[in-house]
Amino acid sequence: MRIGFIGLGNMGGPMSLNLLAAGHTVTVHDVREEAAAEHVARGARWAASPAELAEHSDTVITMLPTPRHVERVMLGEGGLLAAMAEGSTWIDMSTSVPAVADRVRALADERGIRVLDAPVSGMAHGARAGTLQIFVGADPEDAARQRPVLEAMGDPERILHVGPHGTGYAVKLMINMLWFCHLVATSEVLAVGARAGVDLEVLHRSLVASPANSNFLQNDALSVLNNGDYDESFAMALACKDLGLAIDLAREVGVPVELSAVVEQIYRRGKAVFGDLAGEMIPMKLYEDVAGIELRLPAREASGTPGQVRP
Ligand code: NAD
Repeated sequence: MRIGFIGLGNMGGPMSLNLLAAGHTVTVHDVREEAAAEHVARGARWAASPAELAEHSDTVITMLPTPRHVERVMLGEGGLLAAMAEGSTWIDMSTSVPAVADRVRALADERGIRVLDAPVSGMAHGARAGTLQIFVGADPEDAARQRPVLEAMGDPERILHVGPHGTGYAVKLMINMLWFCHLVATSEVLAVGARAGVDLEVLHRSLVASPANSNFLQNDALSVLNNGDYDESFAMALACKDLGLAIDLAREVGVPVELSAVVEQIYRRGKAVFGDLAGEMIPMKLYEDVAGIELRLPAREASGTPGQVRP
């Protein structure tokens, strides 16, 4: 299949390489031409604009930072949608919101252009390994038709058709909202327990063995606890963007989210203190700093697979 891919960053770079490896004919575009060097070396075609990319594509995938970027690429001057052929398909794999895709779909439908939202979990490691979780919001026939394309980038067992248009975005935002809440709650508990004099290793083991255990505590937190790795492959700027979008969605559907609103503020503080490019787990360090301790397990306790966290 002829696939166009726009947005060759931490995620889109390796995802589009996996499409090439699966034998698809791939055309790529990014505002940073240098991001495409490896793709071109492996046989991809470079397109200087979204419109040029559309000429060579039956299916176009976007993997862009924010809804604003998606809107600009799709509907802005010289945008993708106007150049897409009748009957072609757009899959947005960015963590975005239904509103932008709805605006695109309103214009796309009359030209027979199919639209899917298919955001992902599994971070840059999963993007490289081709094991992403993918949450597809679309008509069932479109989801089925595009499955071979998605399987080149994700784990077939974890490519889920989650409902109609927009539901893929919603599932992805709820995953991130819950995970960031886990991170903040876990940081508080570990900092307080350690300051209260409990050995961190004993505290961690006790919590894991208790009804309060979580996947975050048992696995994902080890990235920091074992290695001091706050996961720079997912930047705080994007983490804060996701929390903001999740809270906007909650407002739109009329559900108060007091807890997530506080977590968003803590994340924004982390971004203000440590910068846009700091890793998504850096809010743990806010608690380390305020408690005056480094939350680290002794080396002999190292276990699990640090670095293989989400999103
Ligand atoms: P990134 O910032 O590394 O990459 C974004 C890419 O888009 C960059 O190469 C940038 O140059 C390009 N770009 C920006 N504006 C453009 C435009 N107008 N035209 C063409 N290209 C443009 O971001 P990322 O980490 O790859 O994340 C991409 C999306 O995936 C985001 O929505 C993010 O929330 C989501 N996501 C990221 C992760 C992760 O672990 N990094 C995991 C799951 C989902």
